Amino acid sequence: MGSKLTAENEAAVRARIGYYRDLGIFDFYRRGGPENQIGTETVTEVAVETAIVATDVTYADPVPVPGATPDPETLPPMPSTVAASRRAEAAKTMAPQDKAAALAAIREEIGDCTRCALSRGRHTIVFGDGDPHARLMFVGEGPGADEDAQGLPFVGRAGQLLNNMIGAMGLRRDQVYIANIVKCRPPQNRVPEPEEANTCAPFLFRQIDVIQPEVLVALGSTAATYLLGAKSPLSALRGRIHHARGVKLIVTYHPAYLLRDPRQKKEAWADLQIAMRELGLKASSQQSAASGRQG
Ligand code: SF4
Repeated sequence: MGSKLTAENEAAVRARIGYYRDLGIFDFYRRGGPENQIGTETVTEVAVETAIVATDVTYADPVPVPGATPDPETLPPMPSTVAASRRAEAAKTMAPQDKAAALAAIREEIGDCTRCALSRGRHTIVFGDGDPHARLMFVGEGPGADEDAQGLPFVGRAGQLLNNMIGAMGLRRDQVYIANIVKCRPPQNRVPEPEEANTCAPFLFRQIDVIQPEVLVALGSTAATYLLGAKSPLSALRGRIHHARGVKLIVTYHPAYLLRDPRQKKEAWADLQIAMRELGLKASSQQSAASGRQG
């Protein structure tokens, strides 16, 4: 006789199934066995994962399930982790020009994108900017007016502050990579809707898989939410190391927030120092900050 799942585990599995369905995956295998029983249903996550890998679905990435807050620590691995780690392994042996080509291929696939509603108000798609071999990658929320006009991330006032933050770390902007959760400007700079972010973020995840930075820095709550696949208050996420796409992830304030509340700059600097420790950087040493992968 198989033992039934607890109500909590059942809810978690149902949330996961909802997550798969949100991704457009509706075919589930059935497998006998007590460990997978949910009432009268059985679900084989492994089979689902295998099916995803077999078809190389690259869009299956951690995104929040509406109405649920999955805990990555307790839920089974996201189905994309196998495909992602496969891409990451391939990326490790890529020559610099191959990484640039792989990023260009993602950009080409995005094309003149109309996959979500943000396409209607944008001027330019803001793909990302920086060194394809960067050891450090920043992820923000979405383009603002300046970014939309120029087609580059973080070029307005918040971008100036980010440049200063990067400089304080002993790096130049061209030594890091910068991108956003969504590539088109949300109207009035509002927070992207989940449907918009879930549609666009997989392109970002693929950029991360190609670049394979040693450290990711999530700038603000939206970036943290979609990179971690769960929503938590920023205060609960700051000050420690998380993992996303197999990469160490630090969470800090968005530079636009720091412009509104400069008192928090000290806190943001403390977060960046965690990233610096992980990268072996010293603030005063400009040259030691250069990408170790650059020839
Ligand atoms: S935000 Fe992303 S998914 Fe939406 S239209 Fe722009 S590029 Fe496409």
